Amino acid sequence: MAWMPGVVRKPISRYAEGVRPRMTAYNRVIFHTAVTNSSSLYPMMSNPGTATSHFYVRADGTIEQYASTAVQSSANLEGNHDSITVETWDGYGASWNGGGPGPKWTKAQVRALADIARWAHKTHGVPLRRLKNSRPGSRGIGWHRLGIDGNFPGGILRGRVSGGERWSSSFGKVCPTDTRIKQVPGIIRMARRGSSDAGPRINLTQLQSAYKRPLGKVWTKSGRKTVRKWVKALRRDGYTVKGYAWKIGYFGKHVRRATAKHAKNNHLPYGSKGWPSWKAALDLGLRPYRVKKKKRPHKPKRKPFVNRRRVNRALRNPNHKVGKLARRQMNRVARALRKRGWSVKGYPRYTQSLKRAIGNFQANQGWVGDDANGYLGPETCKRLGLRSKWTKLPIW
Ligand SMILES: [Zn+2]
Repeated sequence: MAWMPGVVRKPISRYAEGVRPRMTAYNRVIFHTAVTNSSSLYPMMSNPGTATSHFYVRADGTIEQYASTAVQSSANLEGNHDSITVETWDGYGASWNGGGPGPKWTKAQVRALADIARWAHKTHGVPLRRLKNSRPGSRGIGWHRLGIDGNFPGGILRGRVSGGERWSSSFGKVCPTDTRIKQVPGIIRMARRGSSDAGPRINLTQLQSAYKRPLGKVWTKSGRKTVRKWVKALRRDGYTVKGYAWKIGYFGKHVRRATAKHAKNNHLPYGSKGWPSWKAALDLGLRPYRVKKKKRPHKPKRKPFVNRRRVNRALRNPNHKVGKLARRQMNRVARALRKRGWSVKGYPRYTQSLKRAIGNFQANQGWVGDDANGYLGPETCKRLGLRSKWTKLPIW
């Protein structure tokens, strides 16, 4: 079975099985643009000497198949032996004059191309990932320009790399145009969605929260596993993540840098700082999912606690060394006073400032004498919104 089901079959006799050489392997699906406004290439390709593709996709998404994928097509020059080739309508001469960045594939065409890619994966095992170059044996879903020499921009729009097969003899041929090349990652994502080759699942929530932490810190075993999955996918796509520490598993700067590079190459939004987005995950051949974080039940905040005896001892003896606990609790008193509009100027350098402030607060309550001595009592604490206790302290 090397005819795709549900498509218009128009076998070209020169490309019949037994006439044309057989495919040597199934490594790629290659998209082209046909520079034509016609709804079929059959009449043209029936002429001996005309390069012929396996498939043609009309504007309305109808697929025509001209040759069984058991045999080689002739649209890819040195890449014919292991490439399934697909020509596409582009409205040349009608809606497109051949210039500029080129016309978009219509939505119906995009769906059809995804169908072909998915079928090629199921039938021939072509991996549903982006083809990186035309080097012998490279695998994936790609386009003609990857095997063409020319003055092309870099990144995804680049042409043939050194050591790559030549897929065309004409220099600078734009096929299948800038616009259409940029559509391919989306087509691959679409093909994956309806395919069994959907790739390993990845907990995107976990990954994204690791990204948000300083240094991309990860503490849990499953968190490390998730980041490793990500790095593995990046590496498989040819990105170097050199400084990544496998055992520590942080989503650190090395992982971020590689993620950002991947996002840039694939024209993904939000990726410039290495954000692991949903689209990026799909593009890397992973199946992302999100988990809802458990909401912790709201706990009312407890009032700050002070041990009155501890604080008072520190307030009483200006020369006494203030311990860590006492300092922490005094700070709470100072904060409570400040919150209520009292100046505690001089504190924490001068303990006496705190005592004076407490005294002022007490005097303001209408208390006199010993009630306004600047030491903490139960009523003072209550009015300052502090929980307090009077407990025994160790003797030293
Ligand atoms: Zn082409």
